[in-house]
Amino acid sequence: MIVLKRPSDWTREISLFKYSTGQSEAEIREVGKQWKESEEKCTNPHKDYIEIKDMSSKLEPQFKILETLLELIAKLTVRIKIPIETKPPSANRESVFGTGFIPRVRRQWDKTEPKEYGVITVSTVHHVISPDSAKGKTIDYENATIKINFDSVDAQVERATGFTILESDKDINTYDWCSFECTTDDLNLIDTLSEHISSLEVEQKKAYEFYKASQKAPTTSDVHTDDDSSEQTSHSADFVAVISHPHGGPKKGSFGRTRATKEILKQVRDQQEWCCYFHDALTCAGSSGSPVFILGQPLCGYGYWFGHPHNHSGKRADGMKVTSIGVDHVETALTPQ
Ligand SMILES: [Zn+2]
Repeated sequence: MIVLKRPSDWTREISLFKYSTGQSEAEIREVGKQWKESEEKCTNPHKDYIEIKDMSSKLEPQFKILETLLELIAKLTVRIKIPIETKPPSANRESVFGTGFIPRVRRQWDKTEPKEYGVITVSTVHHVISPDSAKGKTIDYENATIKINFDSVDAQVERATGFTILESDKDINTYDWCSFECTTDDLNLIDTLSEHISSLEVEQKKAYEFYKASQKAPTTSDVHTDDDSSEQTSHSADFVAVISHPHGGPKKGSFGRTRATKEILKQVRDQQEWCCYFHDALTCAGSSGSPVFILGQPLCGYGYWFGHPHNHSGKRADGMKVTSIGVDHVETALTPQ
């Protein structure tokens, strides 16, 4: 098993500040109840969610460059379902539903069978894989599943099962991000996901270059022409997109703003800072763990602990959404606001 490494002094450093997350948005549902029932009881404006197939057309013209990137993030977004049982198993069985994002996949050889199988890494938040309400109950990680391509009620979905938790910082009680691995026998699926991840890395770089170019542009009406590429108009960079599985149902997109709501918790080492983001994109129970794309967020690694994209963590009392804490790479000449 590959264990994601973090600096040895991480625990000491992070204990220097206190961080309180918002209210969890994992969905806990009794076995037999459907996501539709939860949605009907929900008071959030569900009409504002965007169907995945319509995301491109809902993008404002200045953000069209993000079209492919958002499609790829959506393809790598999964619904997480984890069964919980009381002891002994009884009629009180329930499941936790949340959302996750696939930053890495690999093929692995099983010597005992022998056969090759696929391993999928998923990033999410800890309260999805171990909610407080499951205390004293059995969390059945062996039968936990991720559902891939669940974009609509009639979508052809793929599944991977059996969770092994790789990395979590819940033990130091300040940080909610975590990742786990699950497996599949579908090697074609692994190859497809691998291609999506490679393409996404390219699109991430493109988006960040676009952001930097737009920040250099002197006014909103000027066109940035430093190179011979296509025209790029200046824009405000306060754009955030969340792709999630509200109530454990089909995947939806929502767009929002992040302006002036990045909180730098600590500047560490050279050009790195711990931070979380606040924004106003629509989320519901079931959205916890969703990938949150923030235009201008400087990543310094992809799929690794450092620089991992922030996942949705919860909702504050004032309604603002909170991401998990992550580490951003900071360019000295340009600090995103
Ligand atoms: Zn809802």
